[in-house]
Amino acid sequence: MADPALPTLDDARAVLAPAEQLLDRALARARELTRQGAAIDDHQVLSERIAYAATEARAARELVAYVERTKAEGRADALLEATAAAASADLVTSLVGRLAASADALGIDDVLPADVRKRVRAAGDEAVFRALGRAVAERRGRNETPLDETLEQVRASVREFAEKEIAPHAERIHRHDETIPEEFITKMAELGYFGLSIPEQYGGTEMGNLAMILTTEELSRASLAGAGSLITRPEILTKALMAGGTEEQKKFWLPKIASGERMVGIAVTEPDVGSDVASVKCRAERATVGGREGWVINGPKAWCTFAGRANILALLARTNPDPAAGAKGLSLFIVEKEPSREHAFKQTQSGGGVLEGKADATIGYRGMHSYTLQFENWFVPAENLVGGESGLGKGFYLQMGGFAAGRLQTGGRACGLAQAALEKSAEYVLDRIQFGKPTVEFGLTQYELGRMAARLAAARAITYAAAEAMDADERKAAPLAAQAKLLSCDIAVEITQRGQVLHGGWGYAEEYAISRYAVDALVLPIFEGVRPILALKVVARNLLAG
Ligand SMILES: Cc1cc2nc3c(=O)[nH]c(=O)nc-3n(C[C@H](O)[C@H](O)[C@H](O)COP(=O)(O)OP(=O)(O)OC[C@H]3O[C@@H](n4cnc5c(N)ncnc54)[C@H](O)[C@@H]3O)c2cc1C
Repeated sequence: MADPALPTLDDARAVLAPAEQLLDRALARARELTRQGAAIDDHQVLSERIAYAATEARAARELVAYVERTKAEGRADALLEATAAAASADLVTSLVGRLAASADALGIDDVLPADVRKRVRAAGDEAVFRALGRAVAERRGRNETPLDETLEQVRASVREFAEKEIAPHAERIHRHDETIPEEFITKMAELGYFGLSIPEQYGGTEMGNLAMILTTEELSRASLAGAGSLITRPEILTKALMAGGTEEQKKFWLPKIASGERMVGIAVTEPDVGSDVASVKCRAERATVGGREGWVINGPKAWCTFAGRANILALLARTNPDPAAGAKGLSLFIVEKEPSREHAFKQTQSGGGVLEGKADATIGYRGMHSYTLQFENWFVPAENLVGGESGLGKGFYLQMGGFAAGRLQTGGRACGLAQAALEKSAEYVLDRIQFGKPTVEFGLTQYELGRMAARLAAARAITYAAAEAMDADERKAAPLAAQAKLLSCDIAVEITQRGQVLHGGWGYAEEYAISRYAVDALVLPIFEGVRPILALKVVARNLLAG
């Protein structure tokens, strides 16, 4: 079959601009309806649609901008341009559909003008996706996204490490529900992966957020739960310490985090407190134990990932017992504990404190293990209150700042996992013979592969853009990081599931990696702000306030 005329960046721009105009009109009306975001809860469905549509537009815009830059440097070929155009057409179709569902409330047309619709159809024609799919199969799904020389080197070296040291163990860790091997931690620490965002003066390598994302992607491609997720927690605590820690705390903790001497767990969620973080109940009360000033922690925490092996937990606790204090009654502590590789542990302190933990069995994301914890008079010295006395009551804000970094990192995790699924699917359809020929020769298979690759390119573009924005201004970039997480995680779920179907029955067998990818991906839209909360309370709130 002859290749169709591939769409170009001009096509991408031509479909995107009118969609963005429609979105702008919808946003203006939604701001009125929600009183600049104050009444989002009265319009949740509409607000979620707007948030998601704006995220799709932003991803398309970032992909087009990325390919424009790459083309200007002479490094973009016709396929990369076509990927940007086809992905833009796909995202525009989706976002217009979302807005159309609320068109009456938003006072907008429910379709784009006829000439634009025609161009959307042409750029996103099935023949274009099939051509992309054939190209994906030809390079076995390999990620060759052009980067500058330094970043190419970062990606190549992490890829080599992850393929050699991590990937061969990923299936075993998952199927036997093992705890991540110590060698992974030692080697990743030696390579500086835990200090990528830590300034050099505090023992890190401060390579910047894009290097961190590329590292995360490659590790997650080898194993989401065995490696890619190990750098989420250091990232979250590092950002909280950099924003609100005292100079002594930064000097004390950051080098230990960067060197892997201290592995981190994040203890925010409780059995009865999830999305409504401001309602955290776990208590911290002032106490003197064994002659030391500090705090005792009492209460449960839930879903504390890596809490067994971790030797410090960033724990959000209520220091002001008045529930009316809400978020302002919360403070962030660095809680020390002994590392344990067991699925259940009990530890005691000489002063009488007890900490018990039990990993909740999960369908995927094994290796990290997420624990329910119970603290009973667990002593934390005064110097472990993040920010010292002036950090009192600031825990919620520090934790939320940390989560912004976590969300960016999770965008990278999602892209890495989706990449793994794309590669395994490409390999499978090249080898699998049905009806006398490899399944890659069927048009629908090619279309699926091409669309998976185009969607992944969009997820990658918004994630890389968020990383660069974070380097420029962390606070301002937080909403973009949330959008990157929102879209990339959904795309990872979609690509792993489509890849699983391309594997047919074998996609359901544990010995095929795609089955692990599919269950691992399911967690991505849940943590660090479950999808609806992220869309409403972070993305929509930011967009509608403006
Ligand atoms: C594998 C795994 C690892 C995790 N790791 C960690 C970790 O390391 N540290 C940590 O602290 N937490 C962790 N979490 C917890 C995770 O962050 C929470 O599960 C998440 O924030 C959602 O909270 P919840 O589960 O209590 O759901 P809930 O808040 O009870 O929400 C349930 C549903 O109700 C919806 N909902 C709730 N409120 C609203 C509203 N106002 N409007 C509309 N819809 C609403 C939600 O969107 C969701 O769909 C982890 C979770 C998992 C599954």
